[in-house]
Amino acid sequence: MAGDEAGARALLYAPGLPPTGLPTSFSAGADGLSFGPEASLAPVTWAIVRARRGGFDRSTLTLEWTGTTGDCALVIADAAARATVEPWLRGLASAASATPRTKRVSSLVLGLTIGLPVLLLVLLLSQANRIIDWAVDRIPIDTEIRLGHEAAAEQRSRLALWDDHPAAAAVRELGKRLTHGSRYPFEFHVVRDPSVNAFAMPGGFVVVNSGLIERADSAEEVAGVLAHEVQHVERRHGLRGLVHAAGLGVGLRLVLGEVGGSFAASWAENLEGLRFSRSQESDADRTGVAALIRADIDPRGMGRFFRKLAREGSAVPALLSSHPASEERFATVDTLMPKDRKFEPLNYDWPNLRGSH
Ligand SMILES: [Zn+2]
Repeated sequence: MAGDEAGARALLYAPGLPPTGLPTSFSAGADGLSFGPEASLAPVTWAIVRARRGGFDRSTLTLEWTGTTGDCALVIADAAARATVEPWLRGLASAASATPRTKRVSSLVLGLTIGLPVLLLVLLLSQANRIIDWAVDRIPIDTEIRLGHEAAAEQRSRLALWDDHPAAAAVRELGKRLTHGSRYPFEFHVVRDPSVNAFAMPGGFVVVNSGLIERADSAEEVAGVLAHEVQHVERRHGLRGLVHAAGLGVGLRLVLGEVGGSFAASWAENLEGLRFSRSQESDADRTGVAALIRADIDPRGMGRFFRKLAREGSAVPALLSSHPASEERFATVDTLMPKDRKFEPLNYDWPNLRGSH
């Protein structure tokens, strides 16, 4: 099977590898799968491999097997890489049929669909949004965290992480302060990207662009953005948006704790198009301000930074297009400011930390 690698790439999960997966090269041939030297994993024969398709358009292929050291999986999101595997897939066991739990869920869904009278089904569909909200509230937190980890692994391979940026340590410290006592395992990263933006993924993977760090004039302003992003996670806004996009079937599987790597891969892609509703933005502002006050950080930085961006004429900064701002929102934030409380300025020399990259 030599010579047909052609740069096929995927994320490998195996005992001893990072829990977020290892980006690796691989090749597929008549004998089975073999991996690039970075994986240090022996080749695998097709006889023990199960295949599963997932994602919104079934565009992610997950291969699973149990090796000598334990359970392994290869998540292939790239179309060209998937094409190198497709010819060998016929005759492989389906992972779904090998998982009793999935089978149970499928037959439950099937039973509901066939068994309910049409009228009830119509009623169900007309209530779909409410049912999805109901489902989102019941997704176990460890399922959400696992999903977040897998989606974060996808993001890591595509983002230019810049964790030794001069301000990265400050971002991590501020993040830790704002998430003290949280049930989510938050992590905070700086990414080399000139656009003024930040985002948080369900489960707690938070990213701040270097462009945002440069635009901020104080640590309080960055803390304001972080507090807002953290609350999108705490309040499950992103999770809710993703389940609405993926549909009720996916929502129900998540309630039952079903997470395939394939979900995560396609969710990571959908995160980029994710927009929050006005009420979610106000909610993140309100709870974000409360978190800043709890962390003893002057909350006025939040409104100052968003206002500063909104004033900037022509191009709407990315942060505001993914988090729509309005004068009404700013006015509401102003009313949340504690009138009779003094805050010590944060002890960071921001103009020095943000550098000029
Ligand atoms: Zn927002």
